[in-house]
Amino acid sequence: MIARFPKKITLLAAFITVSTIAVVLLMFYNYYQNAIANEERSSALQALSAEITLYDEQRTSSALLAAYSGDRQWVRRYNAVKVDLTRAFDNTLALSSSKAVHDAAKSTEDANAILVEMETKAINAIESGDNKTAIAVLNAHQYVFQKNRYGSGMASMLKLITKQRQQEYEAIHSRFRNLVLGVVASLCLGAFLWLIVYRVIDMWRLRLNSEVLKREKAETRIREMNAELELRVKERTEELQQTQDKLTHQANYDELTGLPNRRYILNHLSKVISDASEKHQFFVMLIDLDYFKQVNDTLGHAAGDELLQQAAQRLKQAVGSDNIVARLGGDEFLAVSEIAAEGFCEQIKTNIANQILQQFKTPFILGGRTYNLPISPSIGIAVVPNDGSSVEQIMQNADTAMYAAKDHGRNTACFYVPEMKMQNKDNAMLESKLRSAISTKDQFQLYYQPQIDLASNQVVGVEALLRWIQPEDGLILPDQFIPLAEDTGLILEIGHWVLFEAARQTREWQDNHNFNLNVSINVASQQLTQKNFFNTVEQAFQEHGISSDCIGIEITESSLIGCDSISNQNISSLSEYGVKLSLDDFGTGYSALSYLKQYPFDYLKIDRSFIATILEGNSNAALVEGIINMSHNINLKVVGEGTETLQQCELLRQFGCDIAQGYYYSNPLPSHELVKFMQIWEKPEVQDLLRKAS
Ligand code: C2E
Ligand code: MG
Ligand code: MG
Repeated sequence: MIARFPKKITLLAAFITVSTIAVVLLMFYNYYQNAIANEERSSALQALSAEITLYDEQRTSSALLAAYSGDRQWVRRYNAVKVDLTRAFDNTLALSSSKAVHDAAKSTEDANAILVEMETKAINAIESGDNKTAIAVLNAHQYVFQKNRYGSGMASMLKLITKQRQQEYEAIHSRFRNLVLGVVASLCLGAFLWLIVYRVIDMWRLRLNSEVLKREKAETRIREMNAELELRVKERTEELQQTQDKLTHQANYDELTGLPNRRYILNHLSKVISDASEKHQFFVMLIDLDYFKQVNDTLGHAAGDELLQQAAQRLKQAVGSDNIVARLGGDEFLAVSEIAAEGFCEQIKTNIANQILQQFKTPFILGGRTYNLPISPSIGIAVVPNDGSSVEQIMQNADTAMYAAKDHGRNTACFYVPEMKMQNKDNAMLESKLRSAISTKDQFQLYYQPQIDLASNQVVGVEALLRWIQPEDGLILPDQFIPLAEDTGLILEIGHWVLFEAARQTREWQDNHNFNLNVSINVASQQLTQKNFFNTVEQAFQEHGISSDCIGIEITESSLIGCDSISNQNISSLSEYGVKLSLDDFGTGYSALSYLKQYPFDYLKIDRSFIATILEGNSNAALVEGIINMSHNINLKVVGEGTETLQQCELLRQFGCDIAQGYYYSNPLPSHELVKFMQIWEKPEVQDLLRKAS
């Protein structure tokens, strides 16, 4: 609040002003009264002065007239005038208290007394009839002298009185002037003092005001600071809350997909396990995306991330809003679903699993481009509480079921059954055995399966197929360990060994048996994504001194999916170098005809699953015939895989298939047996038989 001018001081100033004005007015009034009185006295004095002169003259003339005429009338007149003169004189004297006047009056009175005495003498003489005496007295020198004395005394007295009046008048005026001056000076002084007081008070007031303002400002600032502080505290609290929410979210949700994370779902699972009962069952689905690693390696991590995000959305859609799906990490997801219905409801469970499988049927669009990726879910399902009473147990069993789904060809769902445990243990064991086999390499062996030209019945090539002769378990076929080797990355070392061994064997056959065979080796997708793959192939050829057309490379359809630039480069370099390329297992994957156009293949190998059904119905045969014709149209030679019967070989020959490979002609053989096979095969009688058979 601003300090106002003090009210008491204003009142005091008003009182002083009013009092001063009252006093001044009183003084004016007093002056006015004095002035009037003085004026009146002056007028009276003038009148009295005239009266005295008149009466004096009348007294003298009355006395003289009385003396000369002897008429008593003039004596009376004289007495009357004498009285009037005395009264006028007294009145005049009364108008002044001045000593000088009274002194002057004294001599006048003295003269008057002598005059009165002489006149009385004259009057007495007149009354006694002695007019002469009276005349003599009145004309006597003495009388004239006294008369003059009286006159001049009177004149000086009047003069004195007039002077006194004048002085009084001047004194009154002077007092009035002084008064006016005094009032003006007092007013000036008062105004001056008032100004000083006002200034001091104003300064004090201003200072007070500025202090008040300062205080108010300080108070406002404090209030603002308080408000600011409150706001800050509020903001900070909100920030903390947000950070806490964010941390809680981060702790519980996967940043990439937005799904709940491992921690969240495992907590949830632990609650689910404690809630579960025979009548209230849950099922837990562990979902692994097939071939994700390959796609991630080939398309790059950005595409891999986008793929995971889309996969997460698809999983979410499949499980519905009543159920929960989380990302455990990498390409692994976990869905938990409650079975409200009583009893074991297989239908509901498989429905959700089916919906998940269904969701992955549509192609993925990554970076605006549509990909026909082999990404599919392998789902392992464990039931709570039947398949475990702890999170670890349930997770382990779902994991086991998931691996079973992978073993069943991927893109499928498997329920956990206790027997799977054994298989799982076997896998772990197998991996450790595979690692030790890789370190020594002496447990691996290449078998060679002949490939027969259907037109000439000549062995034109062999496919090198890996065999693992494990000291304890004996012969282990590729289907049992190649997927494991691919999953663990061990395939790179194995593939390297296969390449150099095939090259070595080719050289050895050329040197010792003069075989002119094209040896095909199988190459996994991980090998193709290696930058130095082509150089390694070149090195193998150079090391063993064989030409590039001696060894062919088989690439499966699934290896080509999502091929990256390195793979493409390797494939082009191999083709340019003269290496024959085969598209293996055609028909099992996506059978994308675009691959045939896109890559420089020399051979297309129809998968044995097609060949196996070739005799079963017209449509299967027509399909194979169509594939053969189409391949020829684009200058590809066709190999029929898994030919087991003469009829199959015949039909393939009819369809114009170029090469056949299968048990009908020979199983895959160790090299020394292949040598024997070749020796027998080349015998003229065998060739004859074959010719006849065809
Ligand atoms: P693949 O490349 O399609 O090889 C042909 C497979 O069919 C071989 O199985 C062969 O033994 C089998 N087979 C040949 N003729 C017949 C037949 O008439 N009937 C039947 N039922 N099967 C026949 P194998 O040797 O067990 O190899 C399986 C797969 O393992 C191969 O399929 C190939 O994809 C993979 N594999 C084999 N060796 C290697 C290798 O060195 N590296 C890589 N990456 N994969 C390999
Ligand atoms: Mg093959
Ligand atoms: Mg094949």
